Amino acid sequence: MCNMDDRTFRNAMGKFATGVTVITTALNGEVRGMTANAFMSVSLDPKLILISIGEKAKMNEIIKQTGKFTVNILSEEQQDLSMLFAGQLKEKQNVTFDWVGDQPVLPNSLANILCDVYNTHVAGDHTLYIGKVTDIYMKDGDPLLFFEGKYRNLASHANAG
Ligand code: FAD
Repeated sequence: MCNMDDRTFRNAMGKFATGVTVITTALNGEVRGMTANAFMSVSLDPKLILISIGEKAKMNEIIKQTGKFTVNILSEEQQDLSMLFAGQLKEKQNVTFDWVGDQPVLPNSLANILCDVYNTHVAGDHTLYIGKVTDIYMKDGDPLLFFEGKYRNLASHANAG
């Protein structure tokens, strides 16, 4: 049996630098968003991606009902949105979304990756959602990064050499 404590596990996972996404979907026209960095590309043919959502997140139930979601890859200018959709801001804010059909997308993201749920797999206290990509929009810009539990950006870590 593994008796490793949660903090050690979290700290080790935090050594993996990632970008930051906001997952969006809409149920009966009402938009829900949730910050997530557990995102990866899975397959080219068919085009599949994966996200992992905690069992306690409200987003879990909502995606089960909508059967679709968008992965919005955040730019370094969108840290406030990451904090908002992670529940880290005290004050609620009104966010304006763009729409692609019935799918809400976050404007000014580096990429909007629209997906239909292709498969799900419960793994411990998270559910893995494999999404089949149906549409993609992209913009130029630098990414918001997350490393050791903190937001970072490329410029502050640029290698002078
Ligand atoms: P809520 O807590 O209900 O919503 C989150 C926040 O978004 C609330 O403050 C809500 O008011 C706001 N919000 C939602 N919709 C709208 C809207 N339409 N307009 C304005 N505000 C809105 N958790 C995971 O499960 N998987 C991950 O991969 C993951 N990665 C993370 C990465 C980072 C960098 C951070 C900071 C957090 C991450 N989390 C992850 C944690 C996750 O973002 C939070 O636990 C989140 O609060 C859970 O969301 P929820 O669905 O329960 O929604």
